[in-house]
Amino acid sequence: MNRVRLLILNAALGPLDYGLADGMDAPAGSVVIAPLGPRKVMGIVWDEGRLPGDEIAFERLRPILEVVPVPTLPAPLRRLIEWTADYYCAPLASVARMALASGGALGGPATMTEYRLTGAEGSGRLTAQRKTALEKLGGEQGTMRELAAIAGVSEGVLRGMANAGLIEPVTVAIDRPYPPADPDHHQPDLSPIQAQVAARLTDAVQAQDFAPFLLDGVTGSGKTETYFEPVAEAIRMGRQVLVLLPEIALTENFLARFTARFGAAPVLWHSSLKSTERRRAWRAIADGPENGGAQVVVGARSALFLPYARLGLIVVDEAHEISFKQDDGVRYNARDVSVMRARFEGVPVVLASATPALESLHMADIGVYERLELPARFGGASLPKVRLINLIEEKPGSGRWLAGPLIDGLRERLEKGEQSLLFLNRRGYAPLTLCRNCGHRFKCPSCSAWLVEHRLSARLACHHCGFETRVPDACPECGETDCLVACGPGVERIADEVRDLFPDARIALATSDTLNTPERAAEFIAMAEGRAIDIIIGTQLVTKGFHFPELTLVGVVDADLGLEGGDLRAGERTYSQIAQVAGRAGRGAKPGEVMIQTRHPDAPVIAALAEGDRDGFYAAETAARRDAGAPPFGRWAAIILSSEDEREARAAAARLGDARPRLADVQILGPAPAPLALLRGRYRYRFLVNARRSANLQAVLRDWIAAVPFPPGVRVGVDIDPYSFV
Ligand code: ADP
Ligand code: ZN
Repeated sequence: MNRVRLLILNAALGPLDYGLADGMDAPAGSVVIAPLGPRKVMGIVWDEGRLPGDEIAFERLRPILEVVPVPTLPAPLRRLIEWTADYYCAPLASVARMALASGGALGGPATMTEYRLTGAEGSGRLTAQRKTALEKLGGEQGTMRELAAIAGVSEGVLRGMANAGLIEPVTVAIDRPYPPADPDHHQPDLSPIQAQVAARLTDAVQAQDFAPFLLDGVTGSGKTETYFEPVAEAIRMGRQVLVLLPEIALTENFLARFTARFGAAPVLWHSSLKSTERRRAWRAIADGPENGGAQVVVGARSALFLPYARLGLIVVDEAHEISFKQDDGVRYNARDVSVMRARFEGVPVVLASATPALESLHMADIGVYERLELPARFGGASLPKVRLINLIEEKPGSGRWLAGPLIDGLRERLEKGEQSLLFLNRRGYAPLTLCRNCGHRFKCPSCSAWLVEHRLSARLACHHCGFETRVPDACPECGETDCLVACGPGVERIADEVRDLFPDARIALATSDTLNTPERAAEFIAMAEGRAIDIIIGTQLVTKGFHFPELTLVGVVDADLGLEGGDLRAGERTYSQIAQVAGRAGRGAKPGEVMIQTRHPDAPVIAALAEGDRDGFYAAETAARRDAGAPPFGRWAAIILSSEDEREARAAAARLGDARPRLADVQILGPAPAPLALLRGRYRYRFLVNARRSANLQAVLRDWIAAVPFPPGVRVGVDIDPYSFV
């Protein structure tokens, strides 16, 4: 028997030693089942000497029970797991679970049932619905749900058809191969500058060495078209590609373009995959491009931890997006982890954006990242003209939110048959509801947050915990009826105002409430492209990726919204959000215009947006960050303590505060009640840590926290490089 050390997939347990029976083959990276007391646990065989822990006597080693029959986790992934746990102060087991997709990919049945037409006459009456289904299904094969979507009938109708002998079940292997992508399916004509950038990236793919790139291209410059070339090269070389996208619900547009370029769809990975799809994708990724394994994987941030067999390139599209930052569980930033993964794999990584994060620009400035620029829009389209509307001078009517010039702009586009987009980053109808009679404000019972009215669903909802309640007829406080007032606008309210102004306009709301499935997103895109929508009203969801050639006016309803509150990244986020949504205008032949409503036209961010002075904005922001010792010049971390008991949370925070290390290069602010002092029924206190680059921030945090005993009801979260300050 041989000694092996396992990384046990249970955050409460450290690494444990086991015995590997002679004849049992389990190299590092193997997934195994081991006994633990009377239970069984899953673990990963780890490299010798890399996990600290006590060695138990050889005689007391218990033998590993079973090696799970899946490919081993490759060494670069094991290094990535170690690095992520160390850098983000997270338990190794929690990071490893992401690689195993919580184990869901490992077990389960190997086959599933799909259905197809039998071609037989069948019994029973041929109803209209059955007839449509027969016509639409043709040679299609799929699950009942998939076929129902294709046929446009309910699953009940299809089951009826199965009983009538029109549809038959077929048993298929879940791990069946994916259709191969053809790197030369359709080669576009790149512009000279696109071709130059593509050639540089293709060279890097051929070299198969770690090389980080910042693909800095204005909106509409054809970044996607350009990075498809190195993707094609990786496919030719039999290598795998990972493309990370910030918003997986809105990948329809990407999928269509990918399929047009490569003749087959990529492998999708995101959190709402069904377990059979998850298993199939995981195994295809681990198998590699030979034998029908995965070539190109398009995924949300969690795709970063999958066991790629032969990775050749990583692309992070819209790399500035803050949704790459995960804010629960393991708090990591997928943009930064992807650079580390590329380093461990020894492959190039491309961060693509029109408004790169300040940190990324800094890395390019100091020569760590190679900067590739696409300075102009493709096909000669010009960047939109920007105009500020000063809301103090141009007051909207009472209970109204759109100022005169913006209304005129909308009218003009309607008359010309062009599209407009109104952007307001607030879902629902109104962010606050109060009682006119007694002043009662509707709050979430488990969060310190107002309930947001959603008029479409007639609900009051908490955007932090998901709590929902019906809008009551009477005030719960004073009992008065007809006394509730909506305060402030959300997108639904803007839609009402637009409907009132332009009753004949065709309006679409684009938020995570209305476009919550890929099908709905696809339908919306088709309608917008087909010019069946005149005015789109949307949240941050519409700021990215969309390309609607007829869209010529973008109106920012409230540019000041993101600047409120003490968010340390507010300026940068506002800049990139508005620059991105502005980038939706005038992408086709017709020039675009952007109108920004603001109460602070002189604020540096707003002025920079008006002048299109990206460099000026970044320079000012960089100087401010340098003065404050903020990233990328210094480092930030947050510690969040929480408990269901307010007193316990406060006491724990005070105790941690008393134990704070006193170091010259680490400044600790707090504890203070978090801005979101109550979240999901837990009371929260925060520390903000600001360290110079000379400090070993992680070690300081670990030692500090480890020295303080906390009662079991207290949760301690560490957030390295935080993006959220609530
Ligand atoms: P970005 O991601 O930089 O905003 P996109 O990649 O979405 O830009 O490109 C903008 C539009 O221009 C898309 O419709 C794209 O298909 C088109 N386009 C870009 N480059 C080319 C090209 N070389 N040939 C044909 N169409 C292109
Ligand atoms: Zn809540």
